[in-house]
Amino acid sequence: MRVPLGTSDFLDRAAQCYPLRLGVVDEPGPAQDGGLGSLTYGSFAERARGLAAGLDVLEITHGERVAIVSHNSARLLESFFGVTSWGRVLVPINFRLSRDEVAYIVEHSGARVLLVDPELDEALADVIAEHRFVLGRSTDEALLRPDVAPAAWEEPDEDATATINYTSGTTARPKGVQGTHRNVWVNAVTFALHAGVTDRDVYLHTLPMFHANGWGMPFAMTGLGVPQVVIRRIDGAEILRRIQAYGVTILCAAPAVVAAVLEAAQTWDGEIPGRGTTRVVCAGAPPPSRTIARIEAELGWEFLQIYGLTETSPLLTVNRRRAEEDDLAPEDAARRLARAGMPALGTRLAVSDEGEVLARGNVVMDGYWRQPEASAEALQDGWFHTGDGGELDDEGYLSISDRKKDVIITGGENVSSIEVEDCLFSHPVVAEVAVIGVPSEKWGETIKALVVLSGEATEAELIAHCKSRLAGYKAPTSVEVRESIPRTATGKVQKFKLREQYWQGTSPQVN
Ligand code: AMP
Repeated sequence: MRVPLGTSDFLDRAAQCYPLRLGVVDEPGPAQDGGLGSLTYGSFAERARGLAAGLDVLEITHGERVAIVSHNSARLLESFFGVTSWGRVLVPINFRLSRDEVAYIVEHSGARVLLVDPELDEALADVIAEHRFVLGRSTDEALLRPDVAPAAWEEPDEDATATINYTSGTTARPKGVQGTHRNVWVNAVTFALHAGVTDRDVYLHTLPMFHANGWGMPFAMTGLGVPQVVIRRIDGAEILRRIQAYGVTILCAAPAVVAAVLEAAQTWDGEIPGRGTTRVVCAGAPPPSRTIARIEAELGWEFLQIYGLTETSPLLTVNRRRAEEDDLAPEDAARRLARAGMPALGTRLAVSDEGEVLARGNVVMDGYWRQPEASAEALQDGWFHTGDGGELDDEGYLSISDRKKDVIITGGENVSSIEVEDCLFSHPVVAEVAVIGVPSEKWGETIKALVVLSGEATEAELIAHCKSRLAGYKAPTSVEVRESIPRTATGKVQKFKLREQYWQGTSPQVN
């Protein structure tokens, strides 16, 4: 028998097995009219069904796109099901992007419906779609139809696209990663298996849900009846408070978020919440082994590392302490955990002759939305080309050592250097520019622009120029004026050479 894998499996199971259990605790602050408070899985599923029925009324059909720009919230969480489980495609957009960047994604994805967080409504006032709603109580009334059953998705297809996540990569414009229902399903189930998730867990959404669908946690946690606590803004002390208040046992985070928690822990009064019971799953950049040792010693949390990309749903590798490693000295254990890990179940990994990490498996995307050439380039010879440089050691563990693609990862978010270069080029006195990532204690990497000027411009002016056009985190934090920028005979800037002087004494050359 073959039953198509789909996002509805997770929602249906929560509704069937855990209807009365606490499902979601929304952000309690003033955002989105005070949020939705606490919802059981029964009422969470009802709201998701109401959203699907509302989309029926708007005559949004299978395969059509619904875009949402929102901070983490229960309404964003329910859209993962209300939109995709009835065959439509969800486009979760990074809420930190500028107006133009959001407009590009809405346009490029062809979204007929756009849902916007109230805090972003004004900035995105002229970003339009056929139907535009501001998330909150009044739009619940206008959009949700809890009184009628949504029309069934007659022929559910596991190969249909469930989500399109735009990600910055090698091109100036972000590309839309098409994740199928099958991709989402396999990722969520495999991830939950490796992280040992059970219905005794409590999950904290520290990861932005728009980023690779929150690594698939909205699906995995719902399917296993795990209560999910929403957090809207990242703040180390607030994370600790929520862990204490709700008995959180698992969270996912980029190293920068972990660093914020470690800092907050320094002044925390009393026992650190979650000591001995909480595990934190880290990815986005290789965390220094010292940070790993501190997490285990100062917080008493278990550290797991994974590696993956939006294009791979994202899970490719896992590194979790094995039974044989229980007696290792903390610094030895931390050193072993600093590697990206071993292939997750169902994933095949290889490293090409050029040192690029290649992956095969059921989590690899269908392709980039409406970009056949970029898709063909990424999916050559039956392998997904990650653009990451890496090595497999004697034990078979992968370590990421370099980034072949021109991407900077700062605070866990991808920034295309080309996009920042384009922006600087639009300034009248910038004659040449190269943008690189340099090490940063706080952000892993931070953005540095090297420029050749044809007139007068201060560093502050060039940074402000970028800030007014791009999401704030994409603006360089420093600009250096150079006489020239070294190029190869074919005119290419050798970024690795430019990076060298800033990365001396650090290894690998990504952070
Ligand atoms: P994204 O698609 O935005 O999630 O970014 C994926 C990229 O993050 C990968 O291609 C890597 O460059 C980087 N990355 C993710 N996890 C790790 C990790 N554990 N170690 C090193 N780099 C990582």
